[in-house]
Amino acid sequence: MGSREVTSWQGMNITVAGLGVSGVSAARALAGLGAVVTVVDAGDGDALRARAAGLADAGITVRLGDAETLPEGTDLVVTSPGWAPSGPLFAAAAAAGVDVVGDVEIAWRLRGPDAPPWLAVTGTNGKTTTTQMLASILRAAGLRTAAVGNIGTPIVDVVLGTDPEYRDLDVLAVELSSYQLHWAPSLRAHSAAVLNLAPDHLDWHGSMEAYAADKGRIYEGNTVACVYNVADKATEDLVVEADVVEGCRAIGFTLGAPGPSMLGVVDGILVDRAFVENRQKNAQELAEVADVNPPAPHNIANALAAAALARAFGVEPRAVRDGLRNFRPDAHRIAHVADVAGVAYVNDSKATNTHAAEASLAAYEPVVWIAGGLAKGATFDGLVTGAAKRLRGAVLIGADRALIREALARHAPEVPVVDLDRTDTGAMLAAVREAARLAEPGDTVLLAPACASMDMFVNYGKRGDAFADAVRELAAGQA
Ligand code: ADP
Repeated sequence: MGSREVTSWQGMNITVAGLGVSGVSAARALAGLGAVVTVVDAGDGDALRARAAGLADAGITVRLGDAETLPEGTDLVVTSPGWAPSGPLFAAAAAAGVDVVGDVEIAWRLRGPDAPPWLAVTGTNGKTTTTQMLASILRAAGLRTAAVGNIGTPIVDVVLGTDPEYRDLDVLAVELSSYQLHWAPSLRAHSAAVLNLAPDHLDWHGSMEAYAADKGRIYEGNTVACVYNVADKATEDLVVEADVVEGCRAIGFTLGAPGPSMLGVVDGILVDRAFVENRQKNAQELAEVADVNPPAPHNIANALAAAALARAFGVEPRAVRDGLRNFRPDAHRIAHVADVAGVAYVNDSKATNTHAAEASLAAYEPVVWIAGGLAKGATFDGLVTGAAKRLRGAVLIGADRALIREALARHAPEVPVVDLDRTDTGAMLAAVREAARLAEPGDTVLLAPACASMDMFVNYGKRGDAFADAVRELAAGQA
């Protein structure tokens, strides 16, 4: 197991689907190992042509303007994560009996004999945060690690050590999307966590069952621990269904008091009843809730999952605490922007689906909620019902705001709603001003759109920036 089988790539005809970052990195790596590589992409603009020209030196052929037909003689297709499995290229591959894999599978197959083990994280929400918390904990334990996968440097480059920063690592903290898992059949992690499961990306996977099954692949072949969410039975079911190495344990995490083989919370302390001597009786203190940044309930769950993976790898309790203390969340994830007139303004632009927005709304009360954008087929009844009691008011923006307005009318008719019918660059400032009008001292104004941003903004980051700018302008006006 684990030897880099260079010879098997020699002369192999590989078609790489997609001239994006991961496609380019996989194409270069495989060409470097002697494979005959063709990259196909449906686009055909100047930027793609320039990128294609940059690959010519490496002997890589690029075919632009056709991503549907399978090049003659293809032995293996390497796809980019975003490509839906129902596409014509994959139908052609299936008809020709050709395997299709993703960049994570390639990375797994290319890793060297002394490759660091993988601690893997997936889930509908919280993946990036948890993976980064895990990396922070591992670093605090003095281990050389990197947070990779669905974040940062393409995983193939990390595994091959193209960049010296990624040589001689002790362990990898790997974030995996459902897409990546779908295309990574032989991946076997040391330990893995599924944080939660809510409907998302169903158009890509075809059904909730198919989505869950792809997430569940992360547990296949785990050697030490399968970490699941006690509050989300679907994640535990996936552990039960997984084929793991003899002796691998199921470890739960919970915001309540933990049973044996769980991590949980007791009196404001994160405790471990899984990786301790005599877990029937003993519990080990890991950190305080206040060490989690920010200490919102869903983020404490993320911290527990990260701690479980680190403890499965043998990390000491003190490093869990230090790693959590050192951790700083990425931008636009429940980021406190400012207090203005006694009201806290929080940017959770990354809450692009209802499950994420539900989690962040649960962390604040009373809250003035700024929401809306592209609903991607979601319904809002459950979200609004759950949040109704906490809402001081709501300000709705974006293309699908009527869906949220109607849900509010049905389940929270007493909550004041401002419906902003504008998409110009000043719309976010108008939304923040309306929210400020509704808020009372002690309240939180929370941008947690529950929707994608592309109707009004380039991406969720720009939406969050617009919110933060608007809050600063509001503050300047009050000064
Ligand atoms: P991902 O990488 O899965 O998209 P992130 O860590 O980037 O997850 O967090 C995205 C958003 O999801 C956050 O802004 C927050 O609103 C929400 N979120 C984070 N963790 C959780 C969780 N454990 N459960 C539910 N929602 C969460």
